[in-house]
Amino acid sequence: MNSRSETRSRELRARAVELTPGGVHSNVRLTSPSVFFDRGKGAWLWDADGNDYVDYLLGQGPNFLGHAHDEVITAVESAMRRGGVFGSQHVLENEAGELFLDSIGWAERVRFGVSGTEADQAALRLARAATGRTRFVRFEGHYHGWLDNVLIKTVDGVTGPASEGQLAHHLDDSIVLGFNDPVALARAFDEHGGEIAAVILEPMMCNSGAIPPENGYLQRVRELCTEHGAVLIFDEVITGFRLTLGGAAERFGVTPDLAVYGKAMAGGWPVSALAGRADVMDRFAAGVNHSGTFNSSVPACAAVTAALTVLRRDAPYQRVEEHGARLIDGIRKLGVDHDLPLRVQGLPMAFHVGFGDPAPVIDAAGLGRLDLKRYADLVPVLVDHGIWVAPRGIWYVSAAHGDSELAAVLERLDAALSAGGR
Ligand code: PLP
Repeated sequence: MNSRSETRSRELRARAVELTPGGVHSNVRLTSPSVFFDRGKGAWLWDADGNDYVDYLLGQGPNFLGHAHDEVITAVESAMRRGGVFGSQHVLENEAGELFLDSIGWAERVRFGVSGTEADQAALRLARAATGRTRFVRFEGHYHGWLDNVLIKTVDGVTGPASEGQLAHHLDDSIVLGFNDPVALARAFDEHGGEIAAVILEPMMCNSGAIPPENGYLQRVRELCTEHGAVLIFDEVITGFRLTLGGAAERFGVTPDLAVYGKAMAGGWPVSALAGRADVMDRFAAGVNHSGTFNSSVPACAAVTAALTVLRRDAPYQRVEEHGARLIDGIRKLGVDHDLPLRVQGLPMAFHVGFGDPAPVIDAAGLGRLDLKRYADLVPVLVDHGIWVAPRGIWYVSAAHGDSELAAVLERLDAALSAGGR
């Protein structure tokens, strides 16, 4: 694998930096090895030089069905022949909406959008309108998009803007707490209860680490929101349709008031959704603005319907879970074989690999005590050995991963750790 050719990728890289800042169209990609992919199918990717990669990043999550799923492609292709957007409703919308709501099970209304970032903004606006309050509680290490009021960085316990040019005062309305700490949340409500419109969280923290909620935590968050009249928003952009068909709400048995979805819901097509209780959501038809030229486009609705049809029919969740569990075991065993402090935590369909103390991490502060740099430094070696993953340590498993992918990734990881694990 390390005899990989790089000629075409090198040329593309050199040209890309002349065309776009840093050679990438999303800043998240600045930290990953710069690979120019030519195509993907199932759990595999091929770069511009013909090298193959077994993919455990899945485009940061969306390709839960694997790349280029035939049924999604057929549905999108045929939908696009009918047009894209009409500035009005079209006949594929209701089917997508019905399947969506039936799949998650708890919500009464849905609005489709394009990105998770904007759906999060819509959720916060809706919560403010519904409560007449301005502030919201959110958590260290949780990501809710790249806009000014939600992009944060915490250094030495102090939270502030994460980007130059970001308006710091846009963060004034957020109260930032540690995840998995019900006492801190209760205290925030005691001190600011009358001002808190919403609590927004990744019900399983995935953007940093892969940190499930501790037993009873989400239930306590639910109770406190209800008690203090705040809207509970689950950001299920990663967990939705991935942890199970009904996402984290179903997996952990806690029902939010609103939830935001994206990624796994449309077989790789760019679609997001905001779903929730009718009395809150219907404010969009009575004074609260949520708009978008491309919302519920024809191909987007076709992609949602196709992907959810496949997920409901094939029920891949147990298979994905088994693959992930065997992969985690394999990674841990290779850590022992290579005498490395390699640690894995999370759930089989979304887990975090890093170096450090094997004890479970429950929040962003704990994550900060791991040797995250050591793993990030290993990633270019993994990529050179044909494993596509990101420096932040998250690994995603898709419905397309099977025995041959498991054998391939463990063999490649073994070779990569021999080459560069120290
Ligand atoms: N919320 C969560 C939990 C996410 O993981 C992401 C993206 O990674 C977003 C929101 C933003 O979604 P998008 O990148 O589609 O704007």
